Amino acid sequence: MSDCVFCMIARGEIPARVVYSDDLVIAFDDIAPQAPVHTLVVPKQHYDRLGADVPSEVICALFAAVPKVAAAKGVAESGYRVIVNNGPDAMQTVGHLHVHVIGGRRMTHGMVHFE
Ligand code: 5GP
Ligand code: ZN
Repeated sequence: MSDCVFCMIARGEIPARVVYSDDLVIAFDDIAPQAPVHTLVVPKQHYDRLGADVPSEVICALFAAVPKVAAAKGVAESGYRVIVNNGPDAMQTVGHLHVHVIGGRRMTHGMVHFE
């Protein structure tokens, strides 16, 4: 996807603060962090969102990267929230599958807020 912002970050065409990278995924800090730690893990290949088209090895690589990102950001012990906004009702705003890793501050219980 030539005009997808996360594809462009994965190709190094626009800058991002990269936290972790391997063959299948790249992790970088969110441009508008909602917590002291807010990092996104995305597949290097484009997938719109979680669906049957996403190979299990990509899903595995995404979630295997999460604790590595948490350790790199210093929240492995304190804990963090892992969120995938998937599709319109979840208010996914970037149409390239991504996992939010959010932490660095105590949150309230619960994570679902309706408009
Ligand atoms: P969503 O709402 O789709 O779950 O999350 C998309 C996230 O991508 C948002 O938290 C937003 O701040 C972040 N984002 C959007 N554009 C960019 C960008 O160009 N660079 C980075 N680093 N993050 C971005
Ligand atoms: Zn993309």
